[in-house]
Amino acid sequence: MTDHERLGRVAVVGAGVIGSAIAAALVDRGARVTQVSESEGLSAASRASFAWVNAHGKMPEPYRALNAEGRAWHARHGASWFVPTGSIVDGVPDERDGYVDVDRFLAVHRARVGATGAVVTGRVLGLGRARTGISLEGTGVVADTVVIAAGTGTAALVGSLTSPNSRIGSARGPRGFAVRLRAPSAAVGRVVVDRGLLLRPDHPERPDLVVAQSLAVEQRLRSRPSSADDAATIWTEMRRELATRVGGEVRDAEPVSVHVADRPRSADGYPVLGWVAPGVYVVLSHSGVTLALLLADLAARDLVGDIDPRLEAYRP
Ligand SMILES: Cc1cc2nc3c(=O)[nH]c(=O)nc-3n(C[C@H](O)[C@H](O)[C@H](O)COP(=O)(O)OP(=O)(O)OC[C@H]3O[C@@H](n4cnc5c(N)ncnc54)[C@H](O)[C@@H]3O)c2cc1C
Repeated sequence: MTDHERLGRVAVVGAGVIGSAIAAALVDRGARVTQVSESEGLSAASRASFAWVNAHGKMPEPYRALNAEGRAWHARHGASWFVPTGSIVDGVPDERDGYVDVDRFLAVHRARVGATGAVVTGRVLGLGRARTGISLEGTGVVADTVVIAAGTGTAALVGSLTSPNSRIGSARGPRGFAVRLRAPSAAVGRVVVDRGLLLRPDHPERPDLVVAQSLAVEQRLRSRPSSADDAATIWTEMRRELATRVGGEVRDAEPVSVHVADRPRSADGYPVLGWVAPGVYVVLSHSGVTLALLLADLAARDLVGDIDPRLEAYRP
């Protein structure tokens, strides 16, 4: 029996980029995995993500290095989902950057999980100790090991079984959005970041489709919470921002979609990986698109006692 088989029945809660990467990493190592998520397909944060793979501005150095390694994992393993466009951040280019096609990433990992594991759709109302294991209430799933990769739902699940964790906090960071737009005369070939305005292509073969995010618009909308997740308001604000900042190229842009989500985030902003109760392990991270593959590998090893010293800084 391998170490991963010895974990028994493993339930991974979450089907965003992090839960999907972990579930696939565990299946590949021979674990008996059931992935449980309340939403089919793309989940909130992974759907609203700008999905820029980068190590820009990350501090301190070990965290920057972690993100740089996360990016290297995509470059090495992500031929079908990583688009290595390079970036230019306030005039400074970085050819190692790119973006993740999140739909593609999730589809590839879901197929790997489905090969020998199970995928269950349902909301986990809480975790409980049952005679036969840890029960994922509301779903009928009982497991020996539970990996919580539930993004902003993490704190509620941890709190249902054990005391709240100060590093996890509320697991909820500032709300953000990604706007997809069709701009026939735009020519955004790479990730472009200019004083808080972020633009990138949406697809390598569709230069007219652009993904946009603006930290200034996010901040403005946050001061008006009632309209912060209203797609029409976001688009109106973004159109104004783009007209001021980018000009002619996007003057004729039309919105394709607007996705809004709170950012999954620990209390101090750094990743959280580790056991929070017997049999219950948590993975929570912002920068989760950049880090997903690397964190999945670290967590899959950590779960069987193959401990990477870098995780010491990120324990719950
Ligand atoms: C606007 C925005 C821009 C971003 N830009 C970037 C970027 O450029 N680069 C980058 O690296 N990162 C970026 N991020 C961060 C990144 O998107 C997230 O860190 C990442 O998507 C987190 O993935 P996740 O799988 O942890 O969470 P999610 O994608 O939120 O998935 C959580 C999953 O848990 C499930 N779930 C939750 N609670 C329950 C429950 N009780 N029962 C069952 N299922 C449950 C949900 O249904 C979902 O499937 C951005 C985020 C946002 C919001």
